[in-house]
Amino acid sequence: MTSTEAPARPSTRTEDLRTEALAVLDRLGAAVPSALPDGPSLAACTPLTGEELFRVAAASPGDVDEAVGAAAAAFVRWRSVPAPVRGATVKRFGELLSEHKADLASLVTLEAGKITSEALGEVQEMVDICDLAVGLSRQVGGRTMPSERPGHRLMETWHPLGVVGVVSAFNFPVAVWAWNTAVALVCGDPVVWKPSELTPLTALACSALLGRALAETGAPADVHRLVLGARDVGAALVADPRVALVSATGSTRMGAEVGPVVAARFGRTLLELGGNNAAVVAPSADLDLAVRGIVFSAVGTAGQRCTSMRRLLVHADVADELVGRLAAAYARLPVGDPRAEGTLVGPLVRASSAEAMQRALARAVEDGGEVVAGGEPVTVDGAEGAAYVSPALVRMPSQTEVVREETFAPVLYVMTWTDLDEAVEVHNAVPQGLSSSIFTSDVREAERFLSEAGSDCGIVNVNIGTSGAEIGGAFGGEKATGGGRESGSDAWRAYMRRATNTVNYSDELPLAQGVDFG
Ligand code: NAD
Repeated sequence: MTSTEAPARPSTRTEDLRTEALAVLDRLGAAVPSALPDGPSLAACTPLTGEELFRVAAASPGDVDEAVGAAAAAFVRWRSVPAPVRGATVKRFGELLSEHKADLASLVTLEAGKITSEALGEVQEMVDICDLAVGLSRQVGGRTMPSERPGHRLMETWHPLGVVGVVSAFNFPVAVWAWNTAVALVCGDPVVWKPSELTPLTALACSALLGRALAETGAPADVHRLVLGARDVGAALVADPRVALVSATGSTRMGAEVGPVVAARFGRTLLELGGNNAAVVAPSADLDLAVRGIVFSAVGTAGQRCTSMRRLLVHADVADELVGRLAAAYARLPVGDPRAEGTLVGPLVRASSAEAMQRALARAVEDGGEVVAGGEPVTVDGAEGAAYVSPALVRMPSQTEVVREETFAPVLYVMTWTDLDEAVEVHNAVPQGLSSSIFTSDVREAERFLSEAGSDCGIVNVNIGTSGAEIGGAFGGEKATGGGRESGSDAWRAYMRRATNTVNYSDELPLAQGVDFG
């Protein structure tokens, strides 16, 4: 190719995609387990074209039982390995992830449809959480409190919890599992992973790399087990009483099914569910910055992030200008093959997502909304079966029912306000409570939004969008988002059990609260 020729378009031929996937899996030490004719199986499809690439063997309920049993047995060994030694295993895993970053990212693109830069970012997030977990492996521990009794020590100790069942969603096919796994492993817990049925190949690849790290560092192989399958496999995992913690990421519908099952057996849950994230834009906002932050949050990952911006609450004085600038930006968005240079919007994961988007837009229009940009299917050569769409920008007269729902596609509803209190009220008047932001140059408005009377979300930002969290903070949301916290800060506590210890080093036996018992 001479320097004047355009770069070759990546091939969309099913055979080429298959060959490339097999080559990547081979480099990562993974293989596709072929489905038996009468055994359970999954279709490994790609949103790049909408085609099925492989038929993959899935787990049966018996396989789930065996995997949990093996992980429970491994727990007995793993919990007694010193935490810094467990950290060394996670360190090796992080090194392998770094080494194979490009290959893993290519599988994320193949299965979830993310543009290359976002797919690389997702793998980087795995590397980052491994770093954080290695640090934690020398830090997790409890406090000592003053005892009211002389000659007594009151303290708390933290111990490994048990088997962690991780159920993950398609849109972060590797990072969310890594958040859980890196932290669970240093905390002394084995993990049984049920990935999304839409992303089995990335799961096979990650498992192979973790298996290598376990083998190289002498850790028990069964501290990580993978069970591929759909909802039924997830349901078998969450119902198993040997699973001490179920960390489930996905829709609020899924959380509503999983939560009661685990609660009924007194298990622990960490639920990371749907979001309906909004930004409030004040008249003092730096609109250049706001436009960039909003577009990234609303159309990144084609609107398929749990933190994707879905609602925009703009002060009436700047609404026309902001909407005009956003509409101009939307009109220039490159939609297409996520592997191609310059693409910013890849495909939706499946045709039903594009249908859900069209249904939501029709309802918004019925409610008096006006689509001011996008909202159309986009045809990409060689990928006629895929679900490419142009992100939609919709002006709404008010926050109607469709706006209060999470449609997992790139639709941004714009509403206006004149009073910040009223804007915050509308902001909070949705069932979900994941991520939020305010664009303002007024410190009072920013602090108001961050205060107890401001946003009711788990993530509240100022002058950045709603998506793109760093791993150092605890990640999660309130209300129908499930209340779980994962990743950084003190999220590790969910993976350990706390014991309160009172040690009497005196030769008296005083009772608490001054009780006299003869
Ligand atoms: P989904 O709910 O369809 O599936 C998620 C996972 O749950 C899959 O592995 C699925 O097989 C499993 N599952 C479904 N029903 C189950 C059941 N009854 N028992 C056990 N397992 C079950 O979600 P999806 O379409 O893969 O992902 C998109 C959704 O996930 C969106 O709502 C998004 O907001 C949410 N999400 C939330 C976060 C977060 O951190 N809050 C992160 C990513 C995605």
